[in-house]
Amino acid sequence: MKYLGIEPKKPRVAVFDFTSCEGCELQFANKEETLVDFLASIEVVAFREISSARGDNYDIAFIEGSITRTDEIERLLQIRENATTLVSLGSCACFGGINKLKNAFDLNEANREVYGSRSKETLPARAVHELVKVDLKIPGCPVSKDEVERIVQHLVWDIPYHYPAYPVCLECKQRFTVCVCELPYNDGAKSTSGQLCLGPVTRGGCDAPCPAGGLGCWGCRGPAEDANIESFLSIAREKGFTEREINERFEFFGGFEGLK
Ligand code: SF4
Ligand code: SF4
Ligand code: SF4
Repeated sequence: MKYLGIEPKKPRVAVFDFTSCEGCELQFANKEETLVDFLASIEVVAFREISSARGDNYDIAFIEGSITRTDEIERLLQIRENATTLVSLGSCACFGGINKLKNAFDLNEANREVYGSRSKETLPARAVHELVKVDLKIPGCPVSKDEVERIVQHLVWDIPYHYPAYPVCLECKQRFTVCVCELPYNDGAKSTSGQLCLGPVTRGGCDAPCPAGGLGCWGCRGPAEDANIESFLSIAREKGFTEREINERFEFFGGFEGLK
């Protein structure tokens, strides 16, 4: 794909999965209307979900998942050594994601309960940047397909990418979604005059699919720039949400760690 008559150099790209559901890397592969052009702009060197290629000569490595085993640490260190640019793909890689929820439990006891005498190694889940230098983070559970494509094009052309600074609320209003904080809600266990929604403090860029589907935002993209957490908390408490409900939401994807 030429731009101003110049053919860009195709970066050699590798995608690696660690502890994850592999939903983020699937986002690369399932946007059929642009997949051919997208793949034409890169050279896939390793990407288990879509290719049998297994090279270790790559420029950009996308890391999906959090790190929860010793062999994963060793593999990650090797990938960091090989890659010029290392990108954390998705909330598991960026923040530890939902895997980090297990860190609140006694892992030995949980291991015994699940695996009995055949226990498996399971370290406290860590985000990729807690172990190696990360050049770029793409948050989301899963990542937004459109955003990943835009970011890869920025990497191809070596142009810095700037994430939206605005919160999810802006995109919610742009698509004329009625605010779920204002809609009566009944989940079977509890009835409220509106749902808890982290949209006001969460980084936009996902196009607000959760409120559009009738659910409050769980903050999978992490905090928006200059998010006013204090103000958000006082409104949530005023509306009658308990500390447990608020904590559960802030902790779910790990992106708000240390902010509440
Ligand atoms: S961020 Fe979400 S979609 Fe992506 S790998 Fe983790 S759990 Fe799966
Ligand atoms: S539903 Fe959530 S994201 Fe949408 S406007 Fe209301 S608070 Fe903001
Ligand atoms: S609305 Fe919130 S939870 Fe849903 S995709 Fe966007 S940031 Fe993630």
